[in-house]
Amino acid sequence: MNPLARLWLWLWWRCAGRRVVLTGGCRQCGQCCQQIQIQQGRSWLRSRRQFRTLVRRQPEYDRFVISGRDGSGCLLFCCRCLQPNGRCGDYANRPDICRQFPDRRLPQTGARLPASCGYQLQLARPFTAHLARSLSRPSPQPAKERS
Ligand code: SF4
Ligand code: SF4
Repeated sequence: MNPLARLWLWLWWRCAGRRVVLTGGCRQCGQCCQQIQIQQGRSWLRSRRQFRTLVRRQPEYDRFVISGRDGSGCLLFCCRCLQPNGRCGDYANRPDICRQFPDRRLPQTGARLPASCGYQLQLARPFTAHLARSLSRPSPQPAKERS
């Protein structure tokens, strides 16, 4: 997704006042450990130089290896720690990007969960918004009694 489309998507989310609800659980398929995109600040890594800077600051990212680029030029990574059985070979020391997956902000960036993922990210209106809406409605008039 190009940067302008991402911006429109982000604005739509903000205006719609929706929240993302995470349901389901991990099936340990290992798909999220392949074709990884890494975000630094608000932007995705696009150059080797940016990646080297990240590794200098956070050496735990050294496990990632550049494997290609997506359609919009962002770097894609694979991970040295991914085992053939789809499990993590360094689970205790995995970086924050792995601990936070799946991040609830994922849909706002236009990214999707892998098809085999056991989690679901769904759009929902927060309960407080439903409550405020029903409280703002006029209460129904009591039916008149017949004489
Ligand atoms: S460190 Fe572990 S959890 Fe993170 S991408 Fe690598 S294999 Fe997956
Ligand atoms: S893609 Fe989803 S189900 Fe598969 S390992 Fe990652 S979090 Fe677990």
